Amino acid sequence: FWQEALNQLKNELSDQEFVMWFSNISYHSSEEGKLILSVPSAFYRDQVKQRYTGIIKEKLYELSGFQLDVDFIVTKRATSESPKEKNEVSDTPQPPMAVKPVPVSVSPAKNDPPKKHPDLRPDYTFENFVIGENNTLAANACMAISKNPGTAYNPCLIYGGVGLGKTHLIQSIGNYAWAHNPDIKIAYVTAETFTNEFIEAIHHNKNHQFKNKYRKVDILLIDDIHFLQEKTGTQEELFHTFNALYETNKQLVFTCDRPVSELKQLTDRLRSRFERGLNVDLQAPAFETRFAILKQKVEEKKVPIDDEVIELICRNVTTNVRDLEAALTRLIAYADLLHKKVTLDIARQQLKDVFSNPKMSNITVEMIQRVTAEYFNLSPNDLRGKKRTKAIAFPRQIAMYITREITEFSTTEVGLEFGGRDHTTVMHACQRVESRMQTDPSLEPIIQRIVRQIKEYGTK
Ligand code: ADP
Ligand code: MG
Repeated sequence: FWQEALNQLKNELSDQEFVMWFSNISYHSSEEGKLILSVPSAFYRDQVKQRYTGIIKEKLYELSGFQLDVDFIVTKRATSESPKEKNEVSDTPQPPMAVKPVPVSVSPAKNDPPKKHPDLRPDYTFENFVIGENNTLAANACMAISKNPGTAYNPCLIYGGVGLGKTHLIQSIGNYAWAHNPDIKIAYVTAETFTNEFIEAIHHNKNHQFKNKYRKVDILLIDDIHFLQEKTGTQEELFHTFNALYETNKQLVFTCDRPVSELKQLTDRLRSRFERGLNVDLQAPAFETRFAILKQKVEEKKVPIDDEVIELICRNVTTNVRDLEAALTRLIAYADLLHKKVTLDIARQQLKDVFSNPKMSNITVEMIQRVTAEYFNLSPNDLRGKKRTKAIAFPRQIAMYITREITEFSTTEVGLEFGGRDHTTVMHACQRVESRMQTDPSLEPIIQRIVRQIKEYGTK
């Protein structure tokens, strides 16, 4: 049933939507009148539940004629057993219980835990990597590679700005492959270390050792290849390393801080090698993903930090995951040293200089209402009033959403400013706007324009 439902949904949803949300759901079990699906994280569960429960139920009804309930269960690594994407390798032998997610501990590594790989950080694993809209393709590609090195996507290059998870992902490939096959030869280096070792090798006439080290591996992971710019000697060496490995179907994975096309000082032939396979990007995470990531870190570290504090950080630190973690680390240190619970006020105080958007404090809700109303040709009173016609309700929701985005007012405070509405109304409004943005690409530019005007207004 589920398989059939999945097939049909695939045709009905956009590719991106399908890959993003459905490639990571798999059948778990069923009870009377209820289908239980497994998803890889709580974030996924919440998102899918909110967005797709209706669609899934409808589809199941269509297929079965029964009103089935749908529930979700979080099982790590559900992806490995989920139906393969069309461009994923499908010649993997499936485990005997192909449809049931296999708990991680049942993997062959259990009785004979492999030692930590000397090049890799043990915590850079897929389990610890939160999948969100910003990294789904890259993460899926890396998981496919780690299961079938040399055949899935070869070479593969992951690019994106600082702190977005490149190193974490590329090392996860190594950790996963190593855990599942301790005989496999893996080398991970940064391009900088690769360069230094190469220079060193020439210096000490150890060229041969160097070649042996990098041309005799099954998986070569090179991080931050933008470092190779202007290093023509090292580029030449890597070009030959690349060819030697590629021709024998060994896996190559690279990361870079920008698309390869934007690397200036790189020889054309090496550039064309990098561009040959799959190039995937990592984007900055959206709010929900930032929240899911920090929530996971908080749970991992078992620190008593409330959701409202996590939310405060995530609303204000929008740049990348490294900055998010840094903000969290600071609060943890504070709590540890002073044995104090981190309240919202303390968090605001402690992170004043970290927040990328600190000076929005001069913006009032009234200003937001005025600019938004003007944009929609309404009066600010309409936004605060009781009328619920569509022409007013949606602009009102947008104004609430913007208020939450660019100020630090709580949902309760925002509700009060909007005619004494309840905080759940505000939450609902924000969700509504966010989900509209997912389906209506014209909405975000509109909101951005309004926000720009508010900011201009605010600095006058
Ligand atoms: P980059 O190499 O792109 O500069 P890193 O891989 O070093 O970024 O990531 C910075 C930090 O953020 C690391 O501690 C990493 O574990 C964490 N991180 C990045 N993306 C995620 C994610 N999606 N889920 C969990 N942690 C993440
Ligand atoms: Mg890195």
